[in-house]
Amino acid sequence: MSSVRVAVRARPFSERELASSSHFCLEMKGKKTILYNCGEVHTGRGSAKEFHFDHSYWSVGKDNAHCVGQEQVYSDLGGPVIKAAFAGYNSCVFAYGQTGSGKTYTMTGSATEPGLIPRICKELFSQIEGSGSGGDSAVSYRTELSYLEIYNEKVRDLLAGGKAGPALRIREHPREGPYVEGLSQHAVHDYTGVACLLTAGNSLRATASTKMNDSSSRSHAIFTLTMTQAVLECGVPSETRSKLHLVDLAGSERASATGAEGVRLKEGSSINKSLVCLGTVISALADKAAHHGKKTLYVPYRDSVLTYLLKDSLGGNAKTIMIATVSPAYSSYGETLSTLRYASRAR
Ligand code: ADP
Ligand code: MG
Repeated sequence: MSSVRVAVRARPFSERELASSSHFCLEMKGKKTILYNCGEVHTGRGSAKEFHFDHSYWSVGKDNAHCVGQEQVYSDLGGPVIKAAFAGYNSCVFAYGQTGSGKTYTMTGSATEPGLIPRICKELFSQIEGSGSGGDSAVSYRTELSYLEIYNEKVRDLLAGGKAGPALRIREHPREGPYVEGLSQHAVHDYTGVACLLTAGNSLRATASTKMNDSSSRSHAIFTLTMTQAVLECGVPSETRSKLHLVDLAGSERASATGAEGVRLKEGSSINKSLVCLGTVISALADKAAHHGKKTLYVPYRDSVLTYLLKDSLGGNAKTIMIATVSPAYSSYGETLSTLRYASRAR
């Protein structure tokens, strides 16, 4: 089995795409995703590129039978992550794609259409509560969460009390691996507690306007839930800890495409550093899995802040899921192609 699962998700046409009557350039058939370079699907003109992913999610057009909503995405991808957490394994779920392609919709969603983060947390607590009433269950649970962003290769706490704090340092513990020094950890006991912190963190997340999208987010946001299961085995206490990282990556568009200059360009280039490095790390892990772990490959975790921080949750027994979000419109052809290429390196 591959250590990395990859899904691609097309969002519906945006108002702007509809207004400019942009054509489709994307089609999904089963697990196949086909990208056409002429902006006219089914005409047989132009060339088509085919990609295969573990899941492909469509949400465009009249034939709603093919459309996949938040619930389905959650049951395919969220379920396994929860299972891994109870089994004591770490996981990472990434949303990758250009600004406006549906990363935040997929990870956070809205009040009426909640995404993966709320659904996963809700189910996790419901299973914890359920296990408490299970008679002989002697497991006690502790859950903590942290929420940070990486902006310009610097780490900031999104839950440090309502305002952006200073950049935090990353240190490496000899046994526990890399961690952020001084990052606030919040004990949570139920989903309401999570929702409250999630909202607080999101409102702090750095945004800056670009030509692409007024509220384009150029930071990587890492929402981490740490669950500790404590048991008494023959009178001896033992603890298992698992971490769940739910990551809304910065827009993958190249700095040049947004017409960014100066400060923006610097931000753009360091965002790309973490994204490029993540791609390299994930493809090295996929390569390793393809060789049943027998191949010794150098995995460059330390080359970016993002991969360094997630080191103990990428590879090994950890579960990694990448969701590549794309626009179905021809006007985004170039970005969509680069997103699909990036995602296919992970398999
Ligand atoms: P990103 O975080 O990648 O910049 P967003 O998640 O903010 O993009 O999505 C841009 C817009 O598209 C939002 O208005 C969002 O509600 C909508 N959208 C994205 N994906 C979907 C989807 N699968 N179904 C319905 N609407 C979507
Ligand atoms: Mg977003």
